Amino acid sequence: MVRRPGRPAAREGAGRLRVPAYAKINLGLEVLAVRDDGYHELRTLFQTIDLKDEITLIERPRGIRLTCRHPDVPDEAGNLAWRAAEELQRRAGVRRGVEIRLDKRIPVAGGLGGGSSDAAAVLLGLDRLWGIGLGPEGLLPLARRLGADVPYFLFGGTALGLARGDEIYPLLSQVRADVVVVDPHRPLSTAAVFARLDARLTPRQNSYTIQRFVASSLRGEVSFRGLRNDLEAAALEEAPDLEQRMSRVRAVLEREGAVLASLTGSGSAFFGLFERRGSATRAQRALASEGFTAHLARTLTARQYRRAWVGSFGERGRSAGRTRC
Ligand code: ATP
Repeated sequence: MVRRPGRPAAREGAGRLRVPAYAKINLGLEVLAVRDDGYHELRTLFQTIDLKDEITLIERPRGIRLTCRHPDVPDEAGNLAWRAAEELQRRAGVRRGVEIRLDKRIPVAGGLGGGSSDAAAVLLGLDRLWGIGLGPEGLLPLARRLGADVPYFLFGGTALGLARGDEIYPLLSQVRADVVVVDPHRPLSTAAVFARLDARLTPRQNSYTIQRFVASSLRGEVSFRGLRNDLEAAALEEAPDLEQRMSRVRAVLEREGAVLASLTGSGSAFFGLFERRGSATRAQRALASEGFTAHLARTLTARQYRRAWVGSFGERGRSAGRTRC
């Protein structure tokens, strides 16, 4: 791995950086086949939203430490963010260490990509803090090794994900919408949901809805019609207790005018996409009054995502960001 001259972090003072790790939703997710290596061939539309974890990186002379107060999130080496730091340190031949403080706000095991986003945030943040200077493109091979969703979080925004979801193609038209995310507090294992999908007897149909979305977005038209998540039935098979709540959530979101209402990833979080803030707010209030945990959020375009990053690097990062990010 080639090291390029990097720049030190500025905002939190030398040797300390606070970085955001945003959640994603899948606007559509199609499972095309099982590959020879056991992974699934996917076609998905990723979208970042402004629901986020906060990560503080503090330089140490050596060693990697990670602390997180969330009961369902592992400390230290079990955490994907820790592994990201360790991989980068090893591959870039860095001698310095880091303390990672993770303030977890993204629901865990909800299909919102929290662990993957934390890992990408640590890669981008340490690339800056340790002065390595690889940038998002240079970090791609490392991100791929950490997990299928990690590469996407190096870029964010509206993007097409192919192969394992780790081949990323940012779209020209970026979605701008309000989002209501419902957390049913029911962690779902991604592996278990995919295993259910594989056991289903019905052959998968290639629906082309994502292809249509991408093609029409080139003309500046965005229509969410027909987009769906192929994992929804398998997720409900894995967690039948969710079925009633999910149909109630979908009904409320659609009643309030959601242009798309769907499970994200392998679940269990559910979201509604709105073209008007007022409708999203009404949906969020209606769901909260029925006892659901519903978060109001906004989509982030790739540019907004990059700006949030460069902003967290401070003034010196801003000038570097113009040429590199
Ligand atoms: P995936 O589809 O990759 O499983 P997800 O969005 O459904 O992602 P995550 O919130 O990333 O779910 O958590 C998946 C599992 O990863 C959890 O059970 C958790 O114990 C473990 N994990 C490891 N590191 C993290 C992290 N930084 N944040 C959240 N979970 C983590």
